[in-house]
Amino acid sequence: MDNSHRTDTEELNNRSYSLRVCQALLDKYGVDAQFLKLIEECNELSRIAAKKLMRSEEATADNIVHEIVDVMVLISQMHVIFGREILSKLYHAKLQELVVIHELKIE
Ligand SMILES: [Mg+2]
Repeated sequence: MDNSHRTDTEELNNRSYSLRVCQALLDKYGVDAQFLKLIEECNELSRIAAKKLMRSEEATADNIVHEIVDVMVLISQMHVIFGREILSKLYHAKLQELVVIHELKIE
């Protein structure tokens, strides 16, 4: 059995589910509320990142990952608002820019 096809299908199903959840959140709370939530979650991630640098015991891997995922959910909603294609295009352009600016050797 071709497992790569099954993985692609699962990936698409997961993406579809993510899209539907994000759209439902935007429908229920509205764009402005989700932008406010984005600010809140980015702030929580900033705080835990600062605690990590200060070697705080609160900055466990679990706590950090939890805050990263919170932001990822909001970023996914931004994909719905602004369009996955443009964000993906700019994301990859930014990666290329970083490779050049930082003179990275990528294999
Ligand atoms: Mg959070």
